[in-house]
Amino acid sequence: MFCPKCGSEVNNEEKICQNCGLDLKEIEKEENKLDYEKKESIQNEHVVLAKENEDSNGFIKGIYFLLAIIILCIFFWGAYKVGTIGNDMSEIESISGDSIAEVYYQDLGKIYVAFAMLIRGIGIFFAAVLIKLGLMK
Ligand SMILES: [Zn+2]
Repeated sequence: MFCPKCGSEVNNEEKICQNCGLDLKEIEKEENKLDYEKKESIQNEHVVLAKENEDSNGFIKGIYFLLAIIILCIFFWGAYKVGTIGNDMSEIESISGDSIAEVYYQDLGKIYVAFAMLIRGIGIFFAAVLIKLGLMK
């Protein structure tokens, strides 16, 4: 190695520069300390980056869960409306007794109720897909 102060070549085992008397062991210690600090700051940087990545993943997950909830609300609200109409229709009774129209409306009402079930099922399916996608992020 070369002495950092005077530039003359010195043996690696020597503790003091023969030319200018500089304490080489102290210089070595300083260099090791700088290396350690540099490594530590790089590690800290990695930790910060990992944390930022985690934060943005959490945000995206949140959006997926929010969308799942919105979809569930929309589908269940629609199913509730259709189901209510269906129930009302299936309870229609004419005063004069059974008629073709009465049977027709009652059956149509049952179809509406079944359709409401289907809407709920579709809503749950889409919400489940969104939650799955959110968990994969
Ligand atoms: Zn020297």
